[in-house]
Amino acid sequence: MSIIARTLKGFLLFEIVKGFSLTFKYMFKPKVTINYPFEKGPISPRFRGEHALRRYPNGEERCIACKLCEAVCPALAITIEAEPRDDGSRRTTKYDIDMTKCIYCGLCQEACPVDAIVEGPNFEFATETREELYYDKDKLLENGDRWEAQIAANLKADEKYR
Ligand code: SF4
Ligand code: SF4
Repeated sequence: MSIIARTLKGFLLFEIVKGFSLTFKYMFKPKVTINYPFEKGPISPRFRGEHALRRYPNGEERCIACKLCEAVCPALAITIEAEPRDDGSRRTTKYDIDMTKCIYCGLCQEACPVDAIVEGPNFEFATETREELYYDKDKLLENGDRWEAQIAANLKADEKYR
């Protein structure tokens, strides 16, 4: 570019005008950003978020303590202990997930024959300490109770692909 053209451009504030025109162009277009955490983007029904243990509508735990999820977990994040109940049914006495080990592969959910352990839609479970990420059965059942409606809807939406 010749020195005259450069001087003329500088004198006419060409770059500033060009910058402002770009700003004004996008000022009236729909926004691509969202005001998180007050607004949230859509999440796929297959999203693999925080784990939850589900119950049947009558309140009974779904988990039958078959330990398939524990066996399949590649991160060895799941620890289960089980005992038969007085009525002969088999249930877990301990169901722990070390969320600091979990790699969110979803294999536990895939392996479960009764849709008990699932990865729910919650992605907002950051903690300040590692200890808070050692989930026990009570915490997992609490998650299940909290998210059941959405988890059930997501599993229904994905039903024909399973
Ligand atoms: S999502 Fe994968 S790594 Fe995490 S607990 Fe389940 S099987 Fe283990
Ligand atoms: S969560 Fe599912 S796979 Fe794991 S022990 Fe219970 S029934 Fe078996």
